[in-house]
Amino acid sequence: MAQGETPAWNAMSNGVPKDFSRRRFLEVIGATGVAALTGIPIVERIWAASEIEAVQRDAQGLAHQWVMVFDLRRCDGCRDCIKGCQEQHHLPKTDEWIKVYELVDAQGLHFAMPVLCMQCETAPCVRVCPVRATYHRDDGVIVVDQDVCIGCRMCMAACPYDVRVFNWDKAAAIDERFHADTPEFTVPQQQGTVSKCTMCVHLLEEGSLPSCLTSCSMEAIFVGDLVEDVMTNGRENFVLSQYLRANDAWRFRAELGTKPRVYYVSGHGQDLDY
Ligand code: SF4
Ligand code: SF4
Repeated sequence: MAQGETPAWNAMSNGVPKDFSRRRFLEVIGATGVAALTGIPIVERIWAASEIEAVQRDAQGLAHQWVMVFDLRRCDGCRDCIKGCQEQHHLPKTDEWIKVYELVDAQGLHFAMPVLCMQCETAPCVRVCPVRATYHRDDGVIVVDQDVCIGCRMCMAACPYDVRVFNWDKAAAIDERFHADTPEFTVPQQQGTVSKCTMCVHLLEEGSLPSCLTSCSMEAIFVGDLVEDVMTNGRENFVLSQYLRANDAWRFRAELGTKPRVYYVSGHGQDLDY
């Protein structure tokens, strides 16, 4: 998609094709989103959302700055997001670019938390790669060029989220029709290189939604754009900054200074203390 072009986010599956242009988005928000938001208490303590405004200022002039939002209140830990990701990228069942952890909060309540590449704005993996095989795209997504990767695994050691996967084995035979060989969409994975979630940016570029998102029957996963200030799960659409502010969104291990581009809304009201 050309820089400056309005994204047409067409829901890829589940029978809800939608034009997610900003105008359409605001129409939808006007009809349903505000009603949904007014039921949610506004919490003042929102450093995640206040930082978003700074990022949005920096993003001026860029076409998109992609983020993801996981609403843990909806996640039931079914792991369908993992399966959708593996199918999209033809990964073996042992390789998980998105993991779903079962956690227990301070009150003893169980909840599920999907974790994937945080697309860190200050990314340790990018900093340590000796051959610059892993890098930031203009839209904030970090990719790995497997033709450049030498498999040293420095990036895996540097990543504080343990979300990179080393391709130990030769990939199983995949029909040539499904082969793709760009840093954004690598099929099959090259033996001796490192892989990770790319936010399905190859799909975002064509106006479709990431595979984990379209696989989630609980509609817990959203993709958003800091520039447009919109987010969608393919059925519901919200103003990104409002949603994060209204729901007291937080970022995983943000105290490390990695500036993750993945946001979480706490599950079931518990006080999460990491
Ligand atoms: S598919 Fe949705 S509900 Fe299932 S584990 Fe993933 S995020 Fe949670
Ligand atoms: S989560 Fe790990 S792999 Fe992803 S950008 Fe951050 S440091 Fe790199």
